[in-house]
Amino acid sequence: MEFRGILGHEQQKLMLSSLVERGKLPHALLFAGPKGVGKRTLGHALARLLFCEEGSACGACRGCRHLASATHPDFTFLPGEASIKIDELRAIRKEVYEQPFEAPLRMVLMDNAEAMTREAANALLKTLEEPPPSNLFLLVSSGEQEIPLTVRSRCMRIGFGPLPRETVRLYLETSAGCDSSQADILAGLAGGSIASALFWMEEEHFAMRSRIASLITGKRQGFTRVALLSEAIAAGGHEAEYLFFLLSFLRDVWWLHETGDVAGLTNKDLKGSMEPVDAARSLWAHTCLGRVQETMRTLRYNVNKWLAIEHLMIDVMRPA
Ligand SMILES: [Zn+2]
Repeated sequence: MEFRGILGHEQQKLMLSSLVERGKLPHALLFAGPKGVGKRTLGHALARLLFCEEGSACGACRGCRHLASATHPDFTFLPGEASIKIDELRAIRKEVYEQPFEAPLRMVLMDNAEAMTREAANALLKTLEEPPPSNLFLLVSSGEQEIPLTVRSRCMRIGFGPLPRETVRLYLETSAGCDSSQADILAGLAGGSIASALFWMEEEHFAMRSRIASLITGKRQGFTRVALLSEAIAAGGHEAEYLFFLLSFLRDVWWLHETGDVAGLTNKDLKGSMEPVDAARSLWAHTCLGRVQETMRTLRYNVNKWLAIEHLMIDVMRPA
């Protein structure tokens, strides 16, 4: 059994295949790991295997067709984009005690499971404590610590790591229409996440890199620019991506000084902003790396993002 077209995560796929083949799937699974690495995609692929009447995700049988058209009566998908509310869990709780309509089992795929409200989590917990047969709950989360431990402990956890850089690069070339030099830069910025690679593919985000780079390396500075740029970074909800870029840029400056190896740069297109690379600049980059990491940690707490990023930008700006 295989998961066609699913990138990477070989061990996780092997484990799922083995559980399905041996009929040993538990009633609750938790896919946990960084965002954008394919956890939800693999969850959908698992549904295709389980609901296919041929057991092969054939794409042609009734189960496969109903899944593809999002009309399968035994499959529920909760995207959890804003929050997962108790009403949704109550409706499911009612259903799970009935026999599935078409398939041998019912499946509830809950993306962003950490978005469950406390009441919703309690309702789910009650269901997981006395699991009715023929149900599979699949929780997908990139913030598992926010899911109550009582719920997590009832799930079999399957952990996911970032995708290898080469896997992301191949995906960008074969499925996203990137040429090889573009794919190379994007894969370096992606940190193992397809979602992040696609974020950087968007022109405005990609261009923001050179704005940030020229601001902090001192070609054009000024507090108005700092404030505007910080606001733009904080407002979009993608500060994690931008801070990751800052790390990669500073690491590039340091790398260029230490090795002179241009091929090893992540942001090859921004080499102009890194120069001239001397010992002072290398030391500056090295010191700033720590400051960026500190801000990344701070942003995990409920702080004013805009202010935190503005402070960071001012701290990492080279004296003009
Ligand atoms: Zn099928």
